[in-house]
Amino acid sequence: MAEAVYTMGVDIGSTASKSIILKDGKEIVSTSVVDVGAGTSGPSRTIGETLKNSGLNREDISYVMATGYGRNSLKEADAQMSELSCHAKGAYFLFPNVKTIIDIGGQDAKALKIGDNGMLENFVMNDKCAAGTGRFLDVIARVLEVDISQLQDLDAKSTKDVSISSTCTVFAESEVISQLASGSKIEDIVKGIHNSIASRVGSLAKRVGLNDDIIFTGGVALNEGMVRALEENTGHKIHTSPYCQLNGALGAALFAYQKQQLIAKKEKANA
Ligand code: ADP
Repeated sequence: MAEAVYTMGVDIGSTASKSIILKDGKEIVSTSVVDVGAGTSGPSRTIGETLKNSGLNREDISYVMATGYGRNSLKEADAQMSELSCHAKGAYFLFPNVKTIIDIGGQDAKALKIGDNGMLENFVMNDKCAAGTGRFLDVIARVLEVDISQLQDLDAKSTKDVSISSTCTVFAESEVISQLASGSKIEDIVKGIHNSIASRVGSLAKRVGLNDDIIFTGGVALNEGMVRALEENTGHKIHTSPYCQLNGALGAALFAYQKQQLIAKKEKANA
């Protein structure tokens, strides 16, 4: 039997560093998410963690592909690939019927249109403004003195609509403070914030076209309250996966496997 081939994808985002090890281009062996991104210890820590979780050494990994905002600074990588291509690749692996990807990360939000064969056909992106990104939620969670992971339970508890009208993070922060001062409940404010982000990102996604299946990726997709808000805003079923934050890293590991297979084929031909 042929020896197993292990490849690694590393996604160095603005906010978090993610990595994944794949066996034979199809089985997820281990994953790691470190909550700091480009320019920090995050990239080397995530690589160390995912190797440790898998019980493998760096020498066991045939090919390492880097993606994300900080991909060009990763010296451990054999090559780099654009994050849009990696997102398309990862989502097609997890959801073969994907037609639209909505990705909300730490500092940007994007919508990708995917063709029948999983190829990227078009995309739109907001990377100019924190509103409508994970950063917005991070700021609001801090003001509300809750952890980012608690937002979904608060959203589910809301009984009253509180509308957050400011479209700028700085003004929204002041608006949240005055809502708190006037006695609004935290859960209603959280739901209002989720709805406000969904409205921004929903409009972005409508520009590439909302076609089923719609897959929600990025760290913000871990928040069920955001899934609810996007479903209400778009009127479509929104699919997520426990690997949503690792989607770019998954795509990179899949590209790494393709590269490794090409190299192995060439070596065989030259032998
Ligand atoms: P990037 O690739 O830009 O670094 P990610 O896709 O990793 O960003 O997403 C980071 C964002 O995900 C954070 O800003 C945070 O808002 C959100 N996030 C991370 N973990 C959680 C969680 N457990 N629950 C809800 N949101 C989360």
